[in-house]
Amino acid sequence: MNVILMGPPGAGKGTQAKRIARKLDIPHISTGDMLREAVAAGTDLGLKVKEVMDKGLLVPDDLMIDLVRERLAREDTRNGFILDGFPRTVEQAIALDKMLDELKKDIDVALLVDADEEEVVKRISSRRVCPECGKVYNLLTLKPKVEGYCDNDGSRLIQRDDDRPETVRARYRVYSDKTEPVIRYYSGEKGNLVKVDGSGEIDTVTAEIVNHLENVKHG
Ligand code: AMP
Repeated sequence: MNVILMGPPGAGKGTQAKRIARKLDIPHISTGDMLREAVAAGTDLGLKVKEVMDKGLLVPDDLMIDLVRERLAREDTRNGFILDGFPRTVEQAIALDKMLDELKKDIDVALLVDADEEEVVKRISSRRVCPECGKVYNLLTLKPKVEGYCDNDGSRLIQRDDDRPETVRARYRVYSDKTEPVIRYYSGEKGNLVKVDGSGEIDTVTAEIVNHLENVKHG
């Protein structure tokens, strides 16, 4: 099953994407994670994108499209993929259609995990991540067993540079301007858009998503 996952920053996209990917046994392709890895490794791409990311702005479409094209062509996507954080502009959506055509693949469902700005700012300011394994915590709703340290490997948890409140608001604005039109793009007949409310409990949101995916699969 080929799934794209959209939604404002902090709606729980990443958390849900990881769960769904595990359940369906398909790769979780997060463009945000790929870029953060490039920044941490100091690659050419990483050097190009760091400043833009820190400001909460979007990385140029051509860089993103090349990155995703290369990733989707890999063998592990043959049974499906969950694309988290791409497309974020209508240009990216058009490019994605083209590359999927070439790869003879289709989007089965475009999933929107929604949340409003205040909810997002509240959530993201309490988000912490493990710099080693990438596990995401929330100081209010998804606490680590030992405060400040990762359950998996004991690393000290950090706050992402772009998770500061003022940057979150900038990211939300970018989302409204650039990504909401993408939602309209997938609202048409061929898009198969499904919307879930991301402000509920994590397990409830997952159950709702799984339910929708089952419907799409058998419908
Ligand atoms: P995320 O982890 O999905 O919130 O992404 C973190 C940051 O990476 C975003 O704020 C953007 O700066 C950049 N980014 C991730 N995906 C894209 C994309 N599809 N297009 C442009 N920039 C992106």
